[in-house]
Amino acid sequence: MLSVHTSPLHQPGTGDAGGMNVYIVELAKRLAALDIEVEVFTRATSSDLPPSVELAPGVLVRHVTAGPYEGLVKEDLPAQLCAFTHGVLRTEAGHRPGHYDLVHSHYWLSGQVGWLAAERWGVPLVHTMHTMAKVKNAALAEGDTPEPPARVIGETQVVEAADRLIANTADEAGELAGHYGARPDQLAVVHPGVNLDVFRPHAPGTAHRAAQRAARARLGLPAEAAVLLFAGRIQPLKAPDVLLKAVAVLLARRPELRERLVVPVVGGPSGSGLAEPKSLQKLAAQLGIGDVVRFHPPVGQPALAEWYRAATALVMPSYSESFGLVALEAQACGTPVVAAAVGGLPVAVRDGETGRLVRGHDPADWARALEPYVTEPELAARQGAAAAAHAAGFGWGAAAAATAEVYSGALVRPAGRLALTRRKPA
Ligand code: UDP
Repeated sequence: MLSVHTSPLHQPGTGDAGGMNVYIVELAKRLAALDIEVEVFTRATSSDLPPSVELAPGVLVRHVTAGPYEGLVKEDLPAQLCAFTHGVLRTEAGHRPGHYDLVHSHYWLSGQVGWLAAERWGVPLVHTMHTMAKVKNAALAEGDTPEPPARVIGETQVVEAADRLIANTADEAGELAGHYGARPDQLAVVHPGVNLDVFRPHAPGTAHRAAQRAARARLGLPAEAAVLLFAGRIQPLKAPDVLLKAVAVLLARRPELRERLVVPVVGGPSGSGLAEPKSLQKLAAQLGIGDVVRFHPPVGQPALAEWYRAATALVMPSYSESFGLVALEAQACGTPVVAAAVGGLPVAVRDGETGRLVRGHDPADWARALEPYVTEPELAARQGAAAAAHAAGFGWGAAAAATAEVYSGALVRPAGRLALTRRKPA
């Protein structure tokens, strides 16, 4: 696997680390359990990193030196792709020929490296986009920075080179075909999963309400509050500002709800959100809800599970999401999700059953959608139970098995450049 711009060893929820990191860790572990050994190449971002680290039995993370350890942002990395590829090819050259059977690249930067490595080794290239420039640019938040044309060119090249493209949802497969000209024989849909051992509603034998109270006590949240949680990277694309504005609208209309309402924001600045890391805090103050909103730095997944269990609902007003893992995680913890009807969220959330899907980003619409979660405790309890049952169908084991099928298909029937090379007359 190639993960150039972010390491599976990084803490997700801030900077460049998010769902893709979790996806690679969970997928690699489950593939290893299916006897598919995984090595993940990632760029070294510190001088004290060892050349390789065993992440789990059968999963090795290799650190490749490509450019200075610190000080490079994701946008600088296209200039380091040659150096990175050099490191990957050199590692392979140290093994017997045929060491790697297949390359699975994640995000377009890795796809560029995978394109070359797979062709050099004569093995299939499987690629997962995670996000796409054209899709992001079509749904930008107001004032957000669009993705540059060079990324679109790079993504188009990767689509052309790949033997298989794994999409999170049928919609994403449609976007790959519609925006980038992917062919049907390249496309495979594999829903990502959720770690059901970590994200559980409550300890066996405990009622959800008791688990919620216990989680709230540990997190310093009032036992009887209505807790509307935001979790993830803080950037315009994820639209935490829409949640804050909606809360302000709701409290202007129903001031009596103020003493019951708590809005924790768990995560750190990322992407274009890094330009003004404190902008959300400022917005909360400007809206006069600084007492309601609480900011917390990103936490590890077991701690995040506590936040989900403590919440009345998870709120995801995103403009674009390739899937939105936090939606599955919260539901697996028995918490309903109020989400924008974008990307994978309509797959992750069953409207009216395990949460609510909201169209558009008008704070007044979001205030209306959130109000019943604040005023009707039985709604969250009912939807939360349905959410846990729904999320239980999304284990990573199933995602890994489906991915292994895609690998087998690519090995037997390549559809990208490998197929073209093989078709060439001898
Ligand atoms: N996450 C975390 N700690 C945090 C906040 C988020 O570990 O404090 C993880 C979360 O569990 C999820 C991932 O970050 O798996 C975010 O993935 P998602 O698909 O929701 O968004 P992305 O970051 O890919 O845009």
